[in-house]
Amino acid sequence: TIYNFGSINLDHLYQLDHFVRPGETMASNSYQRLLGGKGANQSVALAKAGADVKHVGAIHHTDQSILQQLQSLGVDIGLIALLDVPTGHAIIQLNKEAENAIILYQGANHALTEAQVDQVLEQATAEDWVLLQNETNLIEYIMRKAQQQGVKVAFNPAPMDAELTKQVLPFVDLLIVNEVEAMDLIGVDNVDAAITGLPAAYPDLAVLMTLGKAGVRYFKKDINVFVKAFSVEAVDTTAAGDTFIGFCLSSLMNNDEMTQALTRACAASAICVTRLGAAITIPTAQDVTEFLAN
Ligand code: ADP
Repeated sequence: TIYNFGSINLDHLYQLDHFVRPGETMASNSYQRLLGGKGANQSVALAKAGADVKHVGAIHHTDQSILQQLQSLGVDIGLIALLDVPTGHAIIQLNKEAENAIILYQGANHALTEAQVDQVLEQATAEDWVLLQNETNLIEYIMRKAQQQGVKVAFNPAPMDAELTKQVLPFVDLLIVNEVEAMDLIGVDNVDAAITGLPAAYPDLAVLMTLGKAGVRYFKKDINVFVKAFSVEAVDTTAAGDTFIGFCLSSLMNNDEMTQALTRACAASAICVTRLGAAITIPTAQDVTEFLAN
């Protein structure tokens, strides 16, 4: 089982001719409410990849349609708390140039309690994993408890907070970062410096570094594996990283070889970038198997 302590957002997406200016009131050309949050996206990717995933998080009690949606995609929702706190959400303006301007409200995503964490982790065993991103509260507390229980911890520090990430690295078994996060973590301003600098700074840490359309690198001690991305026509890279993480962890939990896990994850995220949207663009395990067969 993988316990994903992650954000759940119910986003509001408005398509506009231009971003709203100070003092302006403007009608929107379209409106959509979309399930999002890196946490929820990664749970969906894990479930679609075939993993046994229990999402741990919180939403407002009137937003139970989220639970049905997650459940229909294969995510176990039994550990999601229903609170009297607004569900986390982003208010997204999308202009004619396809740029976005976003207001984020963390809401229930920051209302996890130590009691809830304790109760969840009491069930976990050494075969299980805990997954976290940086969109919820109690990160260090959760990791500490997981380590005490002998549960492995995967951390995707997004959005990156270098201070917090360095502080919790002793609890992390697998760190998953993209290029920008890797650069921010070690304080360098180009990708090549991060590729050499990150393993040099943390030689004992297992790190997955995704490299956008170039592919992915895995390193730990003297192991250094590179897998090239698949060449596809990218339309929208939203949720590429979340898809990658879900498929990679699912594969690793299946005891697949690292190279095989990375290849499957690259295939899954390649399919994801050819589709427009977030959680709905995450492929199924069968999509990925067919993609790899062609
Ligand atoms: P994030 O979405 O977190 O910024 P990346 O941009 O590194 O993460 O993308 C994650 C993975 O998605 C990459 O390792 C790669 O396998 C795949 N990917 C991303 N962009 C493309 C692309 N344009 N073409 C093919 N694969 C891509």
